Order: sequence, then structure tokens, then C-alpha cells
Amino acid sequence: MQVIKDIPTMKRLSRNIRCEGKILGFVPTMGALHQGHLALIRKAREDCDIVVVSIFVNPTQFGPGEDFEQYPRDFAKDARVCEEEKVDFVFAPSAQDMYPEGYSTWVEVEGTLTHILEGTRRPGHFRGVTTVVAKLFNIVCSDYSYFGEKDYQQALIVKKMVKELHMDTQILLLPTVREEDGLACSSRNSYLKNEEREAARILYRTLVKAKKMIQEGEKDASYLRSVIKDSIGKEPLASIDYVAIADPETLGSVERIEKEVIVLLAVRIGRVRLIDNMRVKPGG
Ligand code: AMP
Repeated sequence: MQVIKDIPTMKRLSRNIRCEGKILGFVPTMGALHQGHLALIRKAREDCDIVVVSIFVNPTQFGPGEDFEQYPRDFAKDARVCEEEKVDFVFAPSAQDMYPEGYSTWVEVEGTLTHILEGTRRPGHFRGVTTVVAKLFNIVCSDYSYFGEKDYQQALIVKKMVKELHMDTQILLLPTVREEDGLACSSRNSYLKNEEREAARILYRTLVKAKKMIQEGEKDASYLRSVIKDSIGKEPLASIDYVAIADPETLGSVERIEKEVIVLLAVRIGRVRLIDNMRVKPGG
């Protein structure tokens, strides 16, 4: 495995790989690798000849007062994990090289998709995400790029950008990997103190409860939202940021549940903001 920090070197390597007719898989991450990241890396390893993992804590997707400074960073450990997973290249550029003095080019998906849910709560977040992902795609030029359903809205936005800018990579979306008790793996879980970690189980427990109700025939989304809010409200350490029942393609709010929906949650446990979601097909 090679660690590449230099952008021109990564560009040259990835273009050579493509020229040789090899299939290149790419997993963009912010590091602090966990089982969710590993699932993406393993799928890329299975599908592709060459696997590139990027590790870059992207400053432009963090808002003022968010956790950019505290975000967990352990490059040596991440590199060891990548080596064990038989990753070919870890790409770890510096913020200075990605955003040099005077940098002023942004990639922004406009419209509702970027201005609901995470978009309203974290202004500028998706502009930072699409900008860095577009830059990484230009550098790594992969055949396939792997993303997690955990960040469902982000994945939809990245897919839209790739389609509308005719980008030359295919986005593959993999299911959310969870801890044994259901909590979605996340680098931010390391912020949770003991009793908060316990309280964080409420997200998955509530999603499972909502899924069961939908499968048993509940069609009234506003009633379901109130049940979800009650369920989370019973956990003293939890405070709701949003609860949404939405169309999985547009993330538009759904009132009657007649076909597949996605239930999305953003909840603060103490000071730690967690997101999770679950797609559900109605039954009954
Ligand atoms: P991050 O390092 O948080 O930016 O995440 C990098 C990629 O890993 C994104 O595509 C995430 O959606 C994905 N990811 C994060 N957590 C999980 C998880 N629990 N299961 C599956 N994929 C995940």
C-alpha cells in the first residue's frame, strides 16, 4: 500500500491505472475509520482491481461552531486499517493543497434537495461536500465510488451532481453498518460519554418501531411522526433536531404512506448530533 499526499502524483497514478484497463474503485472518507467505512472498502476490494481510499477532513463542509477542530483524527491507525484491508492507495492531501490561498471555486447542487433536512440545519454543508467530492473525483478518476446510506441525503446530492456534470464515475450506495445494539457506526460516536452512548440507542429503537408500524399498515405520516417524537422524547438526554418521513428519491415530505418511504432522524444526545435513517416498504 502506498500513501499519496501529493495531488499531481495521485492524478498521474489513477490515470495510468485507467489506461492499463484496470477497474479503479474509490472510497472517500474523513478518516477515523470504522466498520461502516470498512464495508465500503471491502465492497470496492471485491469489485475492483485497484482501491483508493481518501482520508481528508474537509474544512469547507463544517459550519462555524461545528466540530472541525475536534473531529477525530488518527492517520497512523487509519493507514494500518487500510493496509489490513489490502487497499492499494491511501490518498491524504493537505488542506493547503486542496484549498490554497485565494481558492474560490465551488460546486453547488441547487434546489430543494440541498435546502431541506441537513441543508437547513447546516447551511453551506452540502456545498462543501459537493465541492470536495468533485475535486476528489477529478483527482482520482475512479470507475466506481462507494458511499454509505447512513448519509442518505448526501448520497442523493452526490449522485445528482455526478449525473448533471456528466462525471465519469458510478456511485454505489451501501447499507448502513450498525453496532451490535443498532446504533449506526459513525466517527462521531466517539464523542458519546457512557450514559450518552446508552441513550443513543433510542435512534435505532425508534426507527425499528416506525418500520414495524408502517409494515403493519400505518399510513398516516403525521401520526407516525408524533409517535416517533414521543418515543425519542422519553429519552431524557435526547433532543430532536428533525423527524422526517419522505420519498426516498426526492426526500420530499410524505403525508400518506402508500409506497416505500424513508424515515430520517437527526437527534442530539447531549451535545452530540447524530443522524440515522431507514427505508421502509409498507405492508398491511
Ligand atoms: P465520513 O468519513 O463520515 O465522511 O464517511 C465516509 C463514507 O462512509 C460516506 O459515504 C458515509 O456515508 C459512509 N459511512 C459512514 N458511516 C457509515 C455506516 N455506518 N455504514 C455505512 N457507510 C457509512
